[in-house]
Amino acid sequence: MSFHVRRKDREIVDPEEVRQVLKTTQYVTVAFCMNNEPYLVSLSHGYDELKNCIYFHCAPEGKKLVYLKANSRVWGQAVLDFGVTDECDYVYSSVHFCGKMTLLDDLSEKQHGLEVLVRQLSLDPEKKLANIKPEKLQKTTIGRIDIENMTGKKGSPNKERLLDLKNSVFRRK
Ligand SMILES: Cc1cc2nc3c(=O)[nH]c(=O)nc-3n(C[C@H](O)[C@H](O)[C@H](O)COP(=O)(O)OP(=O)(O)OC[C@H]3O[C@@H](n4cnc5c(N)ncnc54)[C@H](O)[C@@H]3O)c2cc1C
Repeated sequence: MSFHVRRKDREIVDPEEVRQVLKTTQYVTVAFCMNNEPYLVSLSHGYDELKNCIYFHCAPEGKKLVYLKANSRVWGQAVLDFGVTDECDYVYSSVHFCGKMTLLDDLSEKQHGLEVLVRQLSLDPEKKLANIKPEKLQKTTIGRIDIENMTGKKGSPNKERLLDLKNSVFRRK
């Protein structure tokens, strides 16, 4: 069954605006399913716009990896949360995506994934990246979510105010 954003007045239709949410947020929340049982975790992420994928790192074991092995299909969400306005509207921009999660083996892709991740999350990425040794990277678990589809939605009737808030977030990047 196929669904669309029901509130057309709230849908983010500009693909660049949708991508900006994934480029600007610090983490995504990802839902898994195994044997009809749902599970979700938040993961700090880096969005690779060219490959339309998300990189993350994690411990080499745990419940999410058990779920991943059973079923690699995931559903995720990223939120830019601007809080409540004086008019009691809740202001947000959010993205939903679905795709396939994979853990990386290839060292050069791990290096690339980590660079995307650290550049999105850190204020001084190059300093941090310079300290990463190949031996350490080999032992680090890094995953990728290949995005197959995504939709965007915003929760604000006041477009000018939303644009101001967004610009202030993007200016920090
Ligand atoms: C903003 C944010 C960013 C994060 N970034 C990362 C990241 O980049 N990489 C990463 O690996 N993890 C990250 N985490 C933690 C992540 O959400 C999981 O807690 C963690 O990955 C462990 O997952 P697991 O399935 O291996 O846990 P396990 O310890 O195997 O889970 C076992 C049980 O513990 C409970 N549990 C697990 N995690 C939580 C939790 N966070 N809160 C409450 N109960 C919990 C659940 O009930 C679960 O059934 C982040 C969390 C937040 C809030």
